[in-house]
Amino acid sequence: MTGNAIEIRNLRKIYGREGKSPVTEALKGIDLDIPQGSVFGLLGPNGAGKSTLINILAGLVVKTAGQVNIWGFDQDANPRQSRAAIGVMPQELNLDPFFAPRAALEVQAGLYGVPRRERRSDEILALVGLEDKANAYARTLSGGMRRRLLLAKALVHHPHILVLDEPTAGVDIELRQMLWQNVRRLNREGMTIILTTHYLEEAEEMCDEIAIINHGALVARDSTANLLGRLDSKTMIVTPDTPPERLPEAPGLAVEMRADGTLMINYNLTQTPAGAVLDAVRNAGITIRDVRTREADLEEVFLSLTRARTDPVEGAG
Ligand code: ADP
Ligand code: MG
Repeated sequence: MTGNAIEIRNLRKIYGREGKSPVTEALKGIDLDIPQGSVFGLLGPNGAGKSTLINILAGLVVKTAGQVNIWGFDQDANPRQSRAAIGVMPQELNLDPFFAPRAALEVQAGLYGVPRRERRSDEILALVGLEDKANAYARTLSGGMRRRLLLAKALVHHPHILVLDEPTAGVDIELRQMLWQNVRRLNREGMTIILTTHYLEEAEEMCDEIAIINHGALVARDSTANLLGRLDSKTMIVTPDTPPERLPEAPGLAVEMRADGTLMINYNLTQTPAGAVLDAVRNAGITIRDVRTREADLEEVFLSLTRARTDPVEGAG
C-alpha cells in the first residue's frame, strides 16, 4: 500500500445521458489522495458534488470515468474488497422502517458477509448511544436516533475508512458532540475518517487536511492550517461611542463607514494583527463601545480560491 486510504484519478460523473438534456456534470475530473489515518474534510457548497463523490466511493453511484482505489483495491477490478474497506453514513435518512436498530445492524452485517461470531451489534449500539433502543420500533426513533443508527450501520463491517456525509447538518448540539467524540475515538483507534461539510468552522475543528470542491472541480487541497492561513482576510465591526471625526488608517486596512454608524474594517491577519487594527481605531480618536469580528464564510473562501480560474456559469451550455 502507498500510505493512501483512497486514490482518485480523473474522476468524472455525468448525470443524465450525454446528448440528452438536462445533463449535469457533477464531477469534472477529480484527482485526490486521502492519507491513511487522517480526518479528511471534503468541503463545498450545496451542489458542489460532495455526495456524488462519496456515493461513488461507497459504490452507490456509478462513475462515468476515472479510477478509484480504496485501501489498495481498484474499485473496478476488486469491487467486493474495495466496498468492504469503507463504511458510509449517508446524508439522507434512508432507513428501512421495518427494522429495529439491532435487527437493522444484523441485516447490514449479513449484507457485508460478516460472520455471526464477528458481529458486535450491541457494542456498536452502545457506541452510538442506542443500547436502550435496540429493539424499539424504527418508526418510534427520533431524527437524531435515526442518524445514530445510520452511523452504527456504517460500522458493522469494521471498515478501515468511515465516511460521513454532512453528519451535522441540522442536528442538535448533543448529537453533534456524540458524533465528534466517536469520530475522534475511531480515528485514534486507526480508522481513516472522511467527512463532508459546508461549515468551515467544523472542518477547522475536526480535520487534519481539507479538500475544497466547487462546481465539480477541486479548487484547493492542503493541510487545514495551511489552507486557513491562505484565507486570512478578516472583518472587524466597530461601534464607536460618538460619530468618528476621521477614519482609522494603517497599512492593509480598508475602512468603511456604514449607515448604522458602525465601522466595517477589512484587514489581513498576517499583515495587520487585530491589536494593530484596534490601535489604529484608537489613534483616530475613536472610543470603542463594542467590537466584533466576522469570519470569512465559505462562499468568500471559494471566491478567493477560485478567482483565478473562473468556471462557466452554472446552467450555461
Ligand atoms: P453536494 O453533495 O455537494 O451538495 P451533489 O453531489 O449532491 O452535491 O450534487 C452535485 C450536482 O449533481 C448537483 O448539481 C445536483 O443537482 C446533481 N445531482 C446529484 N444527484 C443527482 C441525480 N441523482 N440525478 C441528477 N442530478 C444529480
Ligand atoms: Mg450532499
